[in-house]
Amino acid sequence: MLSLNDIPSDVSRKDKVPTSEELCDATISLWKEDPDTEVLPSSQLFARVVQRCSGWSFDQETFETMLVEKNLYSLDETKLPVYSHLIQVPEMCPDLTLNHVKTSNQSSKYLGNIKILSTSNNHMGRGLFAEKDFKPGQLIYVEEDPICIIPAIEKLALISRGKICALCNLSLGSISSHFIMKNGLDCNTCASVWCSKKCKSKDIIHGALKHNKGNKNKVVNCANWNKFEAHCQKTSNDSAYSLGVIFAQLLLNKDSSKRNKQYLKALCGVSQRVRVRGQYSIQESETSVDKFENKWREVYALFIESFPTLADDIDFETFLFCIGKFNINKLSNNQIYFISSFINHHCEPNVRYEFDSKLKLSLYARKEIKKGEQLYITYVNPLHGVILRRRELRVQYGFICKCCRCKKELEHLDIHKNDKEYDRDEITKNNKLNKNSMDELNRGNIDKNQGNRNNEMARRKSSMRNQRPDLQELLKNGQEFELEIPDVINIGGRRRRTSVRFDETVSMAIEE
Ligand SMILES: [Zn+2]
Ligand SMILES: [Zn+2]
Ligand SMILES: [Zn+2]
Repeated sequence: MLSLNDIPSDVSRKDKVPTSEELCDATISLWKEDPDTEVLPSSQLFARVVQRCSGWSFDQETFETMLVEKNLYSLDETKLPVYSHLIQVPEMCPDLTLNHVKTSNQSSKYLGNIKILSTSNNHMGRGLFAEKDFKPGQLIYVEEDPICIIPAIEKLALISRGKICALCNLSLGSISSHFIMKNGLDCNTCASVWCSKKCKSKDIIHGALKHNKGNKNKVVNCANWNKFEAHCQKTSNDSAYSLGVIFAQLLLNKDSSKRNKQYLKALCGVSQRVRVRGQYSIQESETSVDKFENKWREVYALFIESFPTLADDIDFETFLFCIGKFNINKLSNNQIYFISSFINHHCEPNVRYEFDSKLKLSLYARKEIKKGEQLYITYVNPLHGVILRRRELRVQYGFICKCCRCKKELEHLDIHKNDKEYDRDEITKNNKLNKNSMDELNRGNIDKNQGNRNNEMARRKSSMRNQRPDLQELLKNGQEFELEIPDVINIGGRRRRTSVRFDETVSMAIEE
């Protein structure tokens, strides 16, 4: 048990009482920075979070309640909420879907390389399969564009000042104003600018949403759209904003509307309410979801006021379903790519994707792939530890990953199952937490000088920041992420698990 002396000195100026969401985020970012802390007993974890958030006032009991409520400590899979069985997979003929791509997309020449099939795994639904053998590094296909290009919500201020392309968000630093004038790449009404004629012509929604131009059937209420956009910006509601952009394009862009509707219809989906429920323990989930209900109703009202003609088609429940659908299908650049949205997850993926500055996606083999094999990308940062990765997958995508890498790493956690050196007092003191979880977590027991040691480690790590390997490089190299047996080292007479992940340098490369 840690005494007050172990807690950093600025205890006196604690003022903020954090919400359980904030405590949860703080714990998760600690785990991301130092994967070893995933297996600390709750008292030590508490001390580390206190250290990290020195301006916050919260006690150990509040902290432990949060751990239970947010399922951060539970490794008992049967107790964790999952929702993959609630994800709706639309009926569709796979060939028919790829035929849509064939007739309308420049990516069609790669379509012989891949096939969409149902997987035998119920929780995976459909998947993308190789139709040929591929060597590591080989290009499998290119998707020229996402279904709808969605500008990043945090870049709207830069867009309105003409600093970046209003559609693809490319920086305009190197493009001269002479070039912009000569090619008519600016908006006649506002300060917005596009990087190319292609982007300007594709950005059909700008005129309608911002200046009420080409809005003959009054599908958009311009003034209300600006309110909706400002609200999404203020509340950082990225997914609601993205949905607004998608619907604006469906309503305004006659050329792509039919095809895009078919694409979006073919994707799997789940209500955002179900996803939010998945973040909490089963006991806590209903009351916790209630907190989100008002927030969703508010943004839904603004959404419908922006698109009055949608009022009959998109009721509140459909809206939540669309939000959830967007969130489970988007890739790391916040865009949805039709073919790539069929690729399932694996913590040791056999393919990786790359975007160019124009949002073109290229998919490459990371490993040797044989014809008929399923292709897998990783939905989460592969450098995260097994507990964090699985939590992220469960909360964001609704399933518990049972891939071979997860199995192996969980077995490694089990190395200490018979280790009697853990502090038994921790278990009785923390009887709020279920015993299995505590056993699991106590295996990482560390001596009480941990605080000091960690400070040093943090300093050392921050000085190594510049040497961090690039995640993209690691994905490219096709290396296994974490398959070697972790060393067990001796500290102060007690055993502790060392970083399973690479070495310390690599374990810092965790930014998303
Ligand atoms: Zn552009
Ligand atoms: Zn404009
Ligand atoms: Zn896994």
